Amino acid sequence: MCGASASGGSILIKTRDEISRIRDANRIVAHVLSGLSAMIEPGISTYELDRMAERMSDDMGAKPAFKGYRGFPSALCISLNEEVVHGIPSKKRVLRLGDVVSLDFGVLYRGFYGDSAVTVGVGQLSPRDQQLLHITESSLRCGVSNALPGNRISDISRAIQKCVEKEGFSIVRDFVGHGIGRSLHEPPEIPNYVMNAPSPRMRPGMVLAIEPMVNSGDYKVRVLRDGWTVVTSDGSRSAHFEHSVAITEDGCEVLSARD
Ligand code: MG
Ligand code: MG
Repeated sequence: MCGASASGGSILIKTRDEISRIRDANRIVAHVLSGLSAMIEPGISTYELDRMAERMSDDMGAKPAFKGYRGFPSALCISLNEEVVHGIPSKKRVLRLGDVVSLDFGVLYRGFYGDSAVTVGVGQLSPRDQQLLHITESSLRCGVSNALPGNRISDISRAIQKCVEKEGFSIVRDFVGHGIGRSLHEPPEIPNYVMNAPSPRMRPGMVLAIEPMVNSGDYKVRVLRDGWTVVTSDGSRSAHFEHSVAITEDGCEVLSARD
């Protein structure tokens, strides 16, 4: 899940022990997302995926982080095709060949949060949709490789924006990445495009959820009347990848890496 509003305040530096616990939470998230990705096939409903996410979390002693968060009704955010983020699972939404499926999941485990997202296709995707997924995942890698001590948050933003726009895709601006730890959303905000504003320097012990949302068409989005589902304004397709990373002495560690 991503942040939308300004979140001021100082960026918390985590201890080695705290990072270890955030890693545990993110490993559970990674395990659930791997399990869900393997279930993606025509005919399965987004409701069934949501149930599985909750069951897998329960089995590992973790609590789904999004359920009840500001009133979100489900464990999992599932956003299909022109949906960008925060889609609500439903028995009526059944996956079809060629769908683009963004799975965004988080847990609370022993007092700490994990948060990650992945986008997968149902069967064979169109070349444009394949490229959308490829570019979005690459842009996350570009962002992560700039998550270094001494760099600024805007270095992450710039790397992501450049990676996406040079390929003719666009970056969503209304939603941003965030710090994560004892809260799901902590400072700083991590925009996926360069803003004309001061940007904090990264230091070892910061933990950041980096999450580019990429549209095939225009960057503009709107929220549906359910109050949650974000869709592209022009109906073009969208993808979302996210990792939680810890800034280390000489780089960063991806805490939500899937095997
Ligand atoms: Mg997320
Ligand atoms: Mg997030």
